[in-house]
Amino acid sequence: MKGMLASKQTNQLQECLICKKEKENGIHLLEYFICESCESALVSSDTSDGEYREYLDKLKKVRDSLFQNKRRIH
Ligand SMILES: [Zn+2]
Repeated sequence: MKGMLASKQTNQLQECLICKKEKENGIHLLEYFICESCESALVSSDTSDGEYREYLDKLKKVRDSLFQNKRRIH
């Protein structure tokens, strides 16, 4: 273990939109950041988990922003 909490400056940690944890790896949607573990949770088709619906709800907001943004660009 590398002392995750203390090493904020070595890697560019960003707060995940969904789990609110600071992660190094993930994807960016506009100004939002989603860590790779949440991304894989979203991509996985296991919808029996109640948390998944929370993920979807949050991701919808991100998608709405994306679509609005694209419409303005195109
Ligand atoms: Zn996350």
